[in-house]
Amino acid sequence: MDIPFIDLKAQYLRLQSEISSGIDKVFEHGQFIMGPEVFELERRLAKFAGVNRAVTCSSGTDALLMTLMALNVGRGDAVFTSPFTFFATAEVISLLGATPVFVDIDSRTFNIDPSQLEKKIDFVKKENNLKPACVIPVDLFGLPADYDNIKSVTEDNGLFVLEDAAQSFGAEYKGRKAGSLGGAAALSFFPAKPLGCYGDGGAVLTDDEDLAYEMESIRVHGQGDDKYSNSRIGLNARFDTIQAAALLPKLGIFPDELIDRRKVANRYTEGLEGYVETPVVPDQFQSAWAQYSVMSESRSQIRAALKAGGAPTAVYYPTPLHLQKAFSSLGHKKGDFPVTESVAGKIFSLPMSPYLTDDQQNKIIHIIKRSVI
Ligand SMILES: *Cc1c(COP(=O)(O)O)cnc(C)c1O
Repeated sequence: MDIPFIDLKAQYLRLQSEISSGIDKVFEHGQFIMGPEVFELERRLAKFAGVNRAVTCSSGTDALLMTLMALNVGRGDAVFTSPFTFFATAEVISLLGATPVFVDIDSRTFNIDPSQLEKKIDFVKKENNLKPACVIPVDLFGLPADYDNIKSVTEDNGLFVLEDAAQSFGAEYKGRKAGSLGGAAALSFFPAKPLGCYGDGGAVLTDDEDLAYEMESIRVHGQGDDKYSNSRIGLNARFDTIQAAALLPKLGIFPDELIDRRKVANRYTEGLEGYVETPVVPDQFQSAWAQYSVMSESRSQIRAALKAGGAPTAVYYPTPLHLQKAFSSLGHKKGDFPVTESVAGKIFSLPMSPYLTDDQQNKIIHIIKRSVI
């Protein structure tokens, strides 16, 4: 039997009756669009992260997009982000006509390097053809970026910090929850994320009531005070009631699942230290362990051995964004972001879920040890 990369089935079996009765209730009341479960979920998400407001939407990508739209980001604006992330983080910047400005990552955490960010902002200011508007730090693999050091750079420059928390909901940074670490945060409920639904979904978290008000309008075609008045150009970006009904019971067990994710991660690290480069969690950080990612010069050999043993792996991300064809107009070349390129060449992720058994984990650890000796 193959080991699942992300075990959604085990979670479903645990919650089957709650999920089914929650979804049945939606069929009965019939409010498939913006039904009561959506608002209940928004209240609970905001409470979990310790922020004032949660605005759910149709995906993590739309959560990023709606926030940038509400901030009026567009042509002439520079938005700083990591080249080592999922495509969507930078895609939304270009979609609005703004310019993604990539900043290399820290070699230990894989997150945006605050000292490089400062240099890049200074550079853009000196060139004087783009206005520094925003930074989107990504909490990669579930580990928060270094927000205090990021903010000490952005506060001097008046940049808005949009946390890409698509992978990190449930994580912590210096006692604060991921999702509360910038001026706003984007969550994704894509099935494979730590808190996933059964389709696409996302949310923006923020303490800023005005921003939340703008986004509630943007997600319904820029709706004004009544249904047929429109005060801005928006999107159709609502979250389905059925998906909210499925997420509510998942959110209930999420704290327990986070504990189990941490146990799985610690076991991997104990078993694999010295064989591959295991992930670093700095002091006062807690990861949500969306992925457990290791580095090795023998990546292809180890992945082949794991595959043969029924353990799937994945490479996040083989091609850094500055080398993607879609961003070729930015004029980047190999060598522009050496840390990102080096990490992309040797990183890979192991099966990770709160439901990974000791036996499954022992097998994975054993195969890796054997294949690197
Ligand atoms: C998944 C992900 C997104 C996009 O979320 P979707 O819900 O798939 O649109 C954005 N950023 C990061 C870092 C992600 O991992």
